[in-house]
Amino acid sequence: MQEGLIIRSTGSWYDVRNVDGHIYQGRLKGKFKIKGLKVTNPIAVGDRVVFDVEDEAENTVIITDIVSRENYIIRQSVHKTAHGHILAANLDQAVLLATLALPRTSLGFIDRFLVSAESFRIQTTIVFNKSDILNDEGLAYQQEIMDMYSRIGYHCLSTSATEGIGVDAFRQLLDHKVTLLSGHSGVGKSSLVNAIAPDLNLRTNEVSTFANKGVHTTTFAEMFEIAPDTFIIDTPGIKELGLMDTSKEEISHYFPEMRNRLNQCRFHNCLHLNEPGCAIKDAVGEGDIAESRYMSYLSMVEGGDNRR
Ligand code: GDP
Ligand code: ZN
Repeated sequence: MQEGLIIRSTGSWYDVRNVDGHIYQGRLKGKFKIKGLKVTNPIAVGDRVVFDVEDEAENTVIITDIVSRENYIIRQSVHKTAHGHILAANLDQAVLLATLALPRTSLGFIDRFLVSAESFRIQTTIVFNKSDILNDEGLAYQQEIMDMYSRIGYHCLSTSATEGIGVDAFRQLLDHKVTLLSGHSGVGKSSLVNAIAPDLNLRTNEVSTFANKGVHTTTFAEMFEIAPDTFIIDTPGIKELGLMDTSKEEISHYFPEMRNRLNQCRFHNCLHLNEPGCAIKDAVGEGDIAESRYMSYLSMVEGGDNRR
């Protein structure tokens, strides 16, 4: 019996890494049921498991048990059933890579990611890459955005993978952690990781000219050890994390700058839309809550992102 880490999953086979770094091909023994969780996949990348070697020559193992998770990120099954799909488990943090040009990451996208991460209680740093292509005006805008997110508690970093700016800070950010690295295709995830772990040689794809969006093929999360005890989890093809089972009333709790004002609204079930005596709307009016954040909030409450 040994303990290992799931670093890749194809749905039926798992790459299991033992403490020495050896990677086996693992299968599950029988049916795994996870108490209290309706999921289509019982284990995911980042899970710590117990296994027995099945066939040393074939390099296969049987996974017999799973160690309880610190946390996980889950998304609604693509089949739109009530079941979720665990994307990854046991994350130390998330890093959202964004760019303000080529391609431009919308603030709405950033906010939806932050809300998802809050709902899973995973701390997020926002990294603004491609700072080298911004002119003075662009840089001033980037600083404004970074200040806005820093004020509400999100650590921000400005980088350029091609110019090597902020790369050391990026390395330190990931050091000795398991990090979910997210961001639209083409923002420079592979370039930044290659800048700190050149041996890994992740595929970098040219930004396709079509709508400035790259194209992805796979949908399975994958884990890479980029330095000793330093892992990144990549979720290619996953555009948004989404929210599982979140009511409209809950959404404001995932906005840190709203969370501490909620008890000041006149109505305890205030949705901060048009209710009188709303502390959130007041704070937006006074500039204490950013307009863009409130707009993101509205689109999440009014849009189809939540399921109730
Ligand atoms: P990924 O899809 O997020 O992994 O993005 P890639 O790392 O493949 O980068 C997409 C494109 O953007 C490539 O052509 C990179 O050379 C380019 N790129 C990445 N980082 C930077 C950067 O900091 N500045 C500039 N100017 N280009 C970058
Ligand atoms: Zn309110």
